[in-house]
Amino acid sequence: MIEMQGVYKTYPNGVTALNGLDVRIQQGEFVYVVGPSGAGKSTFTKLIFREEKPSKGSIHINDLDLAAMKERRIPKLRRNIGVVYQDFRLLPRLTVYENVAFALEVIEERPAEIKTRVMDVLEQVRLKNKARFIPDELSGGEQQRVSIARAIANRPRILIADEPTGNLDPETSWEIMHILEEINQTGTTILMATHNREVVNRVRKRVIAIEDGVIVRDERRGDYGYED
Ligand code: ADP
Ligand code: ADP
Repeated sequence: MIEMQGVYKTYPNGVTALNGLDVRIQQGEFVYVVGPSGAGKSTFTKLIFREEKPSKGSIHINDLDLAAMKERRIPKLRRNIGVVYQDFRLLPRLTVYENVAFALEVIEERPAEIKTRVMDVLEQVRLKNKARFIPDELSGGEQQRVSIARAIANRPRILIADEPTGNLDPETSWEIMHILEEINQTGTTILMATHNREVVNRVRKRVIAIEDGVIVRDERRGDYGYED
């Protein structure tokens, strides 16, 4: 579960990105986070991953209290959270296989286990046949699927996707959505920050709208709600 109470975030330059945010997300939910640029969506997701600390308020991720958490516990938190970015962030000189394996090597997973896991997740994103390719040899959608495979290799309880379809054409975006839904069906919580109106309106999920650092709308099967 993700729980935030009275969360404020003011950056060192004085910009207040979150202005008293309260939210509770149960394990296994699929949540779209929408809102205009600069509303605080990225800050919201960065707090969950402990990339940023709140200036005020409490954040609990499962049994971890993020405000009180010691720095040395951050790796343990991050092992339970996968992150997917709009621009994929793959390592260009590594193959698909190596990009995914790398995520497991850094946490010192056993080599035999790494092999099985990498092939399992590549199968999940339907890229087993491209394990030896490098990112440049793949389409945008395929690169995003590699980045999803990397994010779930560790079997995280939470997957954060920050505009995962932002660089993709509509058809490829549906493919990515389909894969995210399959991951969600295995019990993984999905938080997806997005500007993709077609996706949000067609694949109905909980919608949290953030504006000026507060939640202005939270609907169980909401729509996108903006004209952009
Ligand atoms: P969104 O993801 O909805 O576009 P952000 O969370 O990125 O919103 O940004 C919210 C506000 O915080 C914006 O005004 C942005 O300029 C500011 N901001 C974001 N990150 C930083 C940072 N590292 N330092 C200072 N200001 C920041
Ligand atoms: P899209 O237009 O959907 O982004 P592309 O035209 O880039 O897709 O790629 C179509 C297919 O060709 C993909 O399966 C991709 O993996 C493969 N492909 C693209 N570029 C290369 C390359 N340089 N070497 C090998 N395969 C490639």
